Order: sequence, then C-alpha cells, then structure tokens
Amino acid sequence: MSPPAVITKVRDWIAAARRVVVLTGAGVSTDSGIPDFRGPNGVWTRNPAAEKLSDFRYYLADPDIRRAAWQSRLDHPAFGAKPNPGHRALAELERRGKLHALITQNIDGLHLQAGNSKVRVFEVHGNVHQAVCLSCGWKGPMQTVLDRVRAGEDDPPCKECGGILKSDTISFGQQLVPAVIDGAMRAAREADLLLTVGTSLRVFPIANAVPVARDAGARIVIMNAEATQFDDIADARLDGLISEELPQVCAAWPKRG
Ligand code: NAD
Repeated sequence: MSPPAVITKVRDWIAAARRVVVLTGAGVSTDSGIPDFRGPNGVWTRNPAAEKLSDFRYYLADPDIRRAAWQSRLDHPAFGAKPNPGHRALAELERRGKLHALITQNIDGLHLQAGNSKVRVFEVHGNVHQAVCLSCGWKGPMQTVLDRVRAGEDDPPCKECGGILKSDTISFGQQLVPAVIDGAMRAAREADLLLTVGTSLRVFPIANAVPVARDAGARIVIMNAEATQFDDIADARLDGLISEELPQVCAAWPKRG
C-alpha cells in the first residue's frame, strides 16, 4: 500500500495538470479477472511455454500453435470481463476534461467499455474483440470466428481468401500500426504528467513513452506493484492495488466555498 502522503501528492499533481497522459498495461485489468503476463500470477510466470502463443513467427509457421491459440481464445477471460474501479476512474478523469490521452497495451477493450472515448484511447496492441485475415486484410467480429471454432474448425481459414485468421492484436514479432504508435508517442511528448498504470514497462517501443515524456518536461508517476526500470526517473511511485489507489489519485478535490 502506498503512503497516504504520496497518494495526496499525486492527486494534487493531477488536479494541477492540464494534459494528463496515462499509459496502462495488463495490471489495470487483473482485478477484472484477466491475468497479466509477467506478474507473480502471470500467464507466462506460471507457464513459460505459453509465450509461444503470443509470438507472431510461431503463429504463422506452426498450425499446432494456431490451433492452441484458437482454443485459448475460446476461454479468454476478456470476453466476459467487466471494467473495475481502476478503469472507471480513468473514464471519470476524461469526463472531468483532464485526460489528454490514454495509451494502452491492453487488448481487452475495457477502457472503451468503461466509457473512455475512441479519440482519446490508443490501443497500441490492438483489440481481441476483432479478427483479421493476415492475407487479404478482412476484419470482422471475433465471436463469429469463435463460433466456427466451437463448431469444430480448429484453425478456421478466412472465408474470403482462405488466408490465416488471427485476433486483430499485435503479437510479439509483429509490426505495430505506425499511425497508432506515432499518435501515442506524440501524446506522450505533449503530456505535462505521465501516469503509468500496471505495466512492467518491458515492452518496447511503447515503454519509451516514459523517457520521451520526461525529456519533454512531464512529471512521471509510476503505479505498479513491482519495480520497473524507469523508477529512478519517476517523481513518484505507487505500489498498492490499482483498483484501490487509482480511484483515489484520480478523484477530484471538493470545490471550495
Ligand atoms: P506485464 O504482465 O508485463 O506487467 C504487468 C504489471 O502489473 C506487473 O509488473 C504486475 O506486478 C503489475 N500488476 C498486476 N496487477 C496489479 C494490481 N492489481 N495492482 C498493481 N500492480 C499490478 O504487462 P504489460 O506491461 O502490460 O505487458 C504485457 C503485454 O501483454 C502487453 O503488451 C499487453 O498487450 C499484453 N497483455 C494484455 C492483457 C490485457 O489486455 N488485459 C493481459 C495480459 C497481457
């Protein structure tokens, strides 16, 4: 749990800031029942072999990996998950006019479900609710493809061209969407306060948003249970439960008089 004085200080900084940019990772969604990758109960911490399912090169080359990936999508907790108080606090920050941009590495769509608007949210790793064909670029709802998997197609091909289908997310080894990553890094440069939430800051290039914002003069606040490589350039660190501490730092101070 973070000391109350640090929570108050960060709440003051947010109240005074004009362009808050938030960078979220898997840790903001663990309290919605979606495990992270690298935390103590993370998917890869518990089963290092699962890392292959998130690697684009294996996905393209190995039908067994694709079949395993489709099976794991069937049970992906993102499909039944609901936003938690951490997501809702960030939606409230936007309603108050404080949020310049919300950059997320998450693919679960929970920030949009919580009420943040599409124009403010940069989903730099895509969204699992959509499927894409890697050959012809067809896109459509993930649930219609999952229905085919449930009906017995263990590696369903694209109905338009026969190509390989995948969730419309960016796997490791896959190219980012330039317009999305450029927009996110521009927002980081424009921030006067950058708040990172629930990310180990080990995935690049997006982790560079921290030094980029710092060099452009922003305050840096890191909210994460575990230490990160950027802690030494942070103005404050919060290490308590995100779903408890994020609503506290995002809460508006009562109006005077
Ligand atoms: P990560 O797994 O590397 O790090 C998550 C961090 O959050 C850990 O350091 C952990 O200690 C911390 N954390 C977890 N729950 C917390 C809580 N309740 N309170 C405080 N801290 C908490 O995650 P990352 O940095 O986002 O990178 C992983 C990659 O995996 C991302 O690219 C993302 O696309 C993907 N991913 C997404 C989801 C999702 O969409 N919900 C889930 C797993 C992985």
